[in-house]
Amino acid sequence: MDDLVTAATRVVAELKAVLGDRLITSAAVREHHSHDTSRLRPHLPDAVAFPRTEEDVQAIVAACAAHGVPVVPFGAGSSMEGHTIPVRGGITLDTREMNRILEIRPEDLLAVVQPGVTRKQLNVELRETGLMFSVDPGADASIGGMASTRGSGTTAVRYGTMRENVLALRVVTPDGTAIQTGSRARKSSTGYDLTHLFVGAEGTLGVITELTVRLHPIPEAVSSAICSFPTVANAVEAVIEAVQYGIPVARVEFMDEVAIAATNSYSRLDLPVAPTLFFEFHGTQAWVEEQARLVEEITLGHDAIGFRWTADADQRTKLWQARHDMFWATKAIIPGYDLYTGDICVPISRLADSIVAARADIDASSLKGQIIGHVGDGNFHTAYLIDPDNPAHLQEAEEMADRLVERALAVGGTASGEHGIGMAKLKFMRKEHGKAVDVMKKIKAALDPLGIMNPGKMGDEG
Ligand SMILES: Cc1cc2nc3c(=O)[nH]c(=O)nc-3n(C[C@H](O)[C@H](O)[C@H](O)COP(=O)(O)OP(=O)(O)OC[C@H]3O[C@@H](n4cnc5c(N)ncnc54)[C@H](O)[C@@H]3O)c2cc1C
Repeated sequence: MDDLVTAATRVVAELKAVLGDRLITSAAVREHHSHDTSRLRPHLPDAVAFPRTEEDVQAIVAACAAHGVPVVPFGAGSSMEGHTIPVRGGITLDTREMNRILEIRPEDLLAVVQPGVTRKQLNVELRETGLMFSVDPGADASIGGMASTRGSGTTAVRYGTMRENVLALRVVTPDGTAIQTGSRARKSSTGYDLTHLFVGAEGTLGVITELTVRLHPIPEAVSSAICSFPTVANAVEAVIEAVQYGIPVARVEFMDEVAIAATNSYSRLDLPVAPTLFFEFHGTQAWVEEQARLVEEITLGHDAIGFRWTADADQRTKLWQARHDMFWATKAIIPGYDLYTGDICVPISRLADSIVAARADIDASSLKGQIIGHVGDGNFHTAYLIDPDNPAHLQEAEEMADRLVERALAVGGTASGEHGIGMAKLKFMRKEHGKAVDVMKKIKAALDPLGIMNPGKMGDEG
């Protein structure tokens, strides 16, 4: 086989003939696809392809397979652990032009979409149907990218993550074959569960070309509540009790006092600067009121201060917008600084200890940082502010993020609740999964013997 540079040149020439203007080698487009939102070192792809159909994807993958050239699927590029960095060059396959909503079947509560459709795009299209696509990672990510990272977000506590919301897929495997996994049935007990093998595979086993996703009825009534607590432990224990009591909260988000101060300043709010919970309840009018009443009782039992609830849509939107702007609010704490983020998930009984330990770690460091979390699932994020020109800051943040993961693994948790492995968390795979990593590597070798699908990521761990 040719060396990689010659091979990539041949693939670019072959694909140019197939895709024309949709195969781009300009410096600006390659640069845009050389990174994700992480701080990991970028690497340029040789070219970026913009397929529109499954046949286009097959042509791209088959050409790359014939010459042993890497293919890196790319959705919105909002991932956070180096997922889309083409570390060995090759072709980045950007799905943005595969953005057609193919079918909406309200009676079956499902939609069929191409992978480049974004979650906001689908929800706009669903407006007239009274249905919604529930998974909400904050960023307007592509549904193909969300499935590939097994993403989730604020609503997972009630409606599930991408794992629960993908029913079926079409996938182009690394030899260019197109397959269908799963069906439109709500359940099935036939065959290996290939759908959920590709969900979370981060583009290392094939390219998703079509997804059948679950839809949910838009609730008749929605209300939100907010309350603060004297300590982090009080707030988290209130959440644990609400979850254990079986109250089907639609969202419950934790923000520590540093996050609240940042959001007050960025989003012009005047929330008490203390550990805080945001709740959202879905159901009938009577049921959301009942849920709010039950949660108020529970939070008061944990010394909540100022429980306030509202059914007012404008106030609710303002609060959730502030929550979604948290990334920018935190960045604004020290202008010019970058954020180094952490993401872990632990059994809910270990959540309070985990957040308290993460806070103590930040307080003992030289960095400023905050903690927010989708705490109903036991999932939380840290964000450390670092001076991009100070290597000591980067090292300190990395060490703190590593300790966060080590503590999570020690209590039966996971190295990532929702952001995934990418490159940054590859080093924890063996520690978390032990010999199961060897089984994963066998699956990778069987499906992708040439190692062309998003190399340097999952499947390439030592
Ligand atoms: C401010 C901010 C907040 C965020 N909050 C959350 C959150 O709350 N919850 C959460 O889960 N995530 C969150 N994220 C991370 C990110 O939005 C998710 O990981 C998202 O699912 C990535 O989707 P994407 O379209 O950007 O995928 P990309 O970043 O483009 O790709 C992600 C991975 O999927 C692969 N891929 C993409 N498309 C395909 C395809 N068609 N077939 C096969 N593989 C493919 C890529 O190769 C890559 O490995 C946040 C990010 C930001 C910037």
